[in-house]
Amino acid sequence: MAKENMNAKEAQSEIKGQFPNKDEIICKDCAFRDKTVVRIGNKKIPVGVTKGFCKKYQGPPKDNGKPHNILFGIEICEHYQKEE
Ligand code: SF4
Repeated sequence: MAKENMNAKEAQSEIKGQFPNKDEIICKDCAFRDKTVVRIGNKKIPVGVTKGFCKKYQGPPKDNGKPHNILFGIEICEHYQKEE
């Protein structure tokens, strides 16, 4: 079907993006998390917790970063340590 003949819903891609949730990810209060925050007005948004790397998963050559199952809340991280 030519794109100009599609309605708006049909023209949308079936591919959807999925991102880790900063409020649900186990890393949000872990001592080893990336503590980067973005400040917007009075709000502090903890963007580091959803990054693919932390102090325990530092990336190549040691590893490939956080496993997807941890990023998406499917698996508990074996290194998790609640920050005091
Ligand atoms: S050690 Fe595990 S729980 Fe802690 S920040 Fe890294 S991936 Fe998240």
